[in-house]
Amino acid sequence: MGKLLFWVFVILVALLVARIAARSAVKGQRRAARRADATRFPADGMVRCAHCGIHLPSSEAVRRKGYNYCTLAHSLKGPGR
Ligand SMILES: [Zn+2]
Repeated sequence: MGKLLFWVFVILVALLVARIAARSAVKGQRRAARRADATRFPADGMVRCAHCGIHLPSSEAVRRKGYNYCTLAHSLKGPGR
């Protein structure tokens, strides 16, 4: 009986360790994905609206057909004034 309790305890500990390891692995992947996004779209990068010419942070820009725009309305009007 003591042996059975011992093995139940060992299995429970193993499951707990596996769960903690899986959780930290997911966290690491999320952190890596966030870092990759920051590289692709620098938070401090400024872009110019192709319609009106105002500068705005790249993270707030509307992208359409390879151009950056300040608003959806300007993206629909297209490049140029
Ligand atoms: Zn604009």
